[in-house]
Amino acid sequence: KFSHLVAEPLDPINLVIINFAKNTDPKKVMLGVGAYRNEELQPHIFNAVKEAEKRLIEDENATYEELPPEGHAEFNELVTELLLGKNNPAILENRVASVQCLGGTGSLRVGAEFIKENIKSEFIYFPDPTWPNHYNVFGFSGAEIKHYHYWNSELKGLDLEGFLRDLNEMPTGSIVLLHACAHNPTGVDPTQEDWERIIDVICQRDLMPYFDAPYIGFASGDFDRDTYAIKRCIERGLQFLISLSFGKNFGLYGDRIGSIHAICQDQETKEKVQCALGSITKSMFGSGSAHGARIVATILKDPELRENWLNELISVSQRMQNMRKLLYDELVRLEAPGNWLHIKTQIGMFCYTGLTPQQCENMIEKWHCFMLKNGRMAICGLNTKNVGYVAQAFRDSLNF
Ligand code: PMP
Repeated sequence: KFSHLVAEPLDPINLVIINFAKNTDPKKVMLGVGAYRNEELQPHIFNAVKEAEKRLIEDENATYEELPPEGHAEFNELVTELLLGKNNPAILENRVASVQCLGGTGSLRVGAEFIKENIKSEFIYFPDPTWPNHYNVFGFSGAEIKHYHYWNSELKGLDLEGFLRDLNEMPTGSIVLLHACAHNPTGVDPTQEDWERIIDVICQRDLMPYFDAPYIGFASGDFDRDTYAIKRCIERGLQFLISLSFGKNFGLYGDRIGSIHAICQDQETKEKVQCALGSITKSMFGSGSAHGARIVATILKDPELRENWLNELISVSQRMQNMRKLLYDELVRLEAPGNWLHIKTQIGMFCYTGLTPQQCENMIEKWHCFMLKNGRMAICGLNTKNVGYVAQAFRDSLNF
């Protein structure tokens, strides 16, 4: 019955994990995986999360009852406020549909089904490059996947003119997938002025943005900054979708906690969209898991826990920014030829180093610094002890 199946090649990230585990060199460095690691290179558990879990265990009223298809109501309300700010007109006008999902991936998948059933858009446009799993997820959307220019390899930055040109040529009604902040894999985001120009064209051409936002708060430590583009789209009167993940910003990777939000034209439409999203979750996975939603809600509604979490989030994002700076300083000290400023100006988990596949090969084979061959380096694989070694590896690899 199943023997006709063809084994798919391993995903490059899984391959890096497997090869890293097999490698016995004591100096090996993991620069491949997109999960936050602290200075000790260990998974990080937020203090606020530990405290919230304690409170949940002690809560005598807590049960294991199943959530409704839309998920945990209080969680949905609190994360919508976190995303948009309590006084956002879309919230005050009660026109944001919010449904809990299984992580950011689950949220995108619910979004893909929603597009297929209710938007029926002919095209969805991805930045080039983008997170590889977008291809798998949106393969189910019924829309044909196309691309817009994003990365300028010479500038090692944003190809804004190419991006705007492509937006101008998209058929009306197309969906444009945008990374809200900390673009994966490049770490390159539009500036606020760039966003203004991007949103202008989106409005002129009547396109529908779809924000993938797994890194809000986590990228810069500042929610206002990381949600700027989303809020501007609301101010410009757009109706659109947003997928959130609480894997990174609460460190709840394995709890698979995320949400999908639709900014609608009015309350009546919101009720219909909420219902449609709920019926998709119901048919796909019943409803989201209660535990992660309770942790997030417990933290967000308690001023003390919330502040504690926000402060820790700032230190997490600062550690990543410090590592960028240290790597840059080391490369300058080693007189590595070229301009490495982009290492400092890119943001979030990843640095798109600009190393060629051959140079990456040398990083891996000779120096045991495991990264993706497209040049993407996970910043939190660095710490104050290994950054000098990685810079040396980098310097050496430039000879290839
Ligand atoms: N979108 C992007 C751009 C991501 O990088 C990730 C996580 N790597 C996700 C979505 C999915 O988030 P989650 O891990 O919560 O499924």
